[in-house]
Amino acid sequence: MRFEVTQIKGGVANAYLLTGDHVALVDTCAGMGYRRVIKVLRGKGLDVPDVEFILITHHHYDHAKNAAKIKNLSGATLIAGAADAPIIEGTEPNPPPSHINRLGRFMDRLPKSLLESYQSYERVEVDRKVTGGEVIEELGLEVVAVPGHTPGGVCFLDREGRRAFVGDMVSCFGGKPGMPSLSFSEGLDKIKASQELLAGLDLDIAYPGHGKVIEPDASRVIADYVEKQKARGAYGS
Ligand SMILES: [Zn+2]
Repeated sequence: MRFEVTQIKGGVANAYLLTGDHVALVDTCAGMGYRRVIKVLRGKGLDVPDVEFILITHHHYDHAKNAAKIKNLSGATLIAGAADAPIIEGTEPNPPPSHINRLGRFMDRLPKSLLESYQSYERVEVDRKVTGGEVIEELGLEVVAVPGHTPGGVCFLDREGRRAFVGDMVSCFGGKPGMPSLSFSEGLDKIKASQELLAGLDLDIAYPGHGKVIEPDASRVIADYVEKQKARGAYGS
């Protein structure tokens, strides 16, 4: 399936607009990023009601926050990882900060209301709950499970086009690959496994949730990064 990808720099996080036979968004930016989503859509002669699919890489507010608004206005089909769906749908609360790093441990001691005030978003029903291995036929995208940042984290892979939307599993600040936010992650062993998986996908382009698009030879760039991380013991024991 051929589609064009346009990066939407939403301030806190990226979203991506896919245009071709169908109109789709990968992630939705945080609150103010909504204006950027609209601007990019209008730049293509489209508007929010034209969105047919909303693909969510993981449940964090900076990716899922505008999903409800966009779905309500467009009737788009919302696709997200099954293990993240209860949080997106609001049947489960946001998990607390992790204890992987000092910042997470510190934030876990802050009043809950403080975190909730910026993490909260309007909850919305997930139409297709995916676990990995599914194909989104309309877009020609395969779902690849990449747990470790969140339990239901997923990557959307265009195998033929050798490109993938990798969410937070690999960030790219300053043009360099980086870890997902460890203050809000599941575990380093799972992150390592998911990053190794991305390194093995033969990607030319990786579209991250934060920072610049990784290209060319994205999988090789990620593989080099994983090796360096291993050498410095960044994944723990
Ligand atoms: Zn995240």
